[in-house]
Amino acid sequence: MRRVCVFAVGLFYAALPLACAQDAKKDPDQIGARDVSKGVNFYSIEKEMAIGKQMSEAIERQAKLVGDKGISEYVARLGQNLARHSDSKIPLTIKVIEGDDPNAVTLPGGYIYVNTGLIRTSDTESELAAALAHEIGHVAARHGTRQATQSQIGQVAAIPLLFVGGGWLGLCARGAGALVLPISYLGTVRGFESEADMLGLQYLYKSGYDPLGMVDIFEKILSFDVRKHGKIIAKLGSTHPESDDRLSNVQKNIQTMLKARPEYVVNTSDFDNMKVRLLALDWVPKPVPPEEPKRPTLLREGDRLVASKKTVPQTDPRASQIKEAYTTR
Ligand SMILES: [Zn+2]
Repeated sequence: MRRVCVFAVGLFYAALPLACAQDAKKDPDQIGARDVSKGVNFYSIEKEMAIGKQMSEAIERQAKLVGDKGISEYVARLGQNLARHSDSKIPLTIKVIEGDDPNAVTLPGGYIYVNTGLIRTSDTESELAAALAHEIGHVAARHGTRQATQSQIGQVAAIPLLFVGGGWLGLCARGAGALVLPISYLGTVRGFESEADMLGLQYLYKSGYDPLGMVDIFEKILSFDVRKHGKIIAKLGSTHPESDDRLSNVQKNIQTMLKARPEYVVNTSDFDNMKVRLLALDWVPKPVPPEEPKRPTLLREGDRLVASKKTVPQTDPRASQIKEAYTTR
């Protein structure tokens, strides 16, 4: 009897670290003191950062960075503040690029590119912060290189596939490009997406923002997605139930993981000012092409004779003097 008890206690202690590790991931009080990037990973952090730098240079050769510092510095500041309340051990580089989709791309090594479309879609700072916090969840858990490891890719040239996993699954998995990906790949991507939602929600909350901002921005992104890719979905006969699951998971996590606080930041005047700047950029009238220089009027020799016959006698003051001289005689 006693042996059985010892065995049971042994089992209990064996299972404890696993249970604690699992709970730690769901406990916002342990942010920064836990390892959320555990898992098989062929890439060291240094290697990951080198790969990310290389990929970021490729992106910046193609994408158009937003030049307005009022916008880019605001978004970078917002992201860095969230990062300070995150588990990320990788420094973040956050930039804004022009793009209509309400989307963001996260590369290995902490590079996050935010589309202007995502900022336009966000109505409050807490919504934009929620989207950024999700991306920071990917960075903290090192999803990019873990996905590369799991896919047995192991080649830098093949890593751009990670754009699918690094961005929003809600958008990317419905995109035509994603449909050719193997199911196993998408399955792992979905697991990472829901983990990024869970971690991001905690970072949002820990930074003092209204966690419902995540529900609000996801609803907007998913409805944009259905509008844009509705035809593709209809063709495949799939209803993509994971959209609803994603929203209800966030709501469930808010109730079970987060202790209610008396107040949250929903919006700031900095956000509103930045948004005005972005809208002003949108409204800049397109430059009017300069008028074509007027071509010189050319007269041929015959035209000049005709013109002088018609005009000179009428305009020449001498004509009236001559006429007057004749009439006074
Ligand atoms: Zn994502």
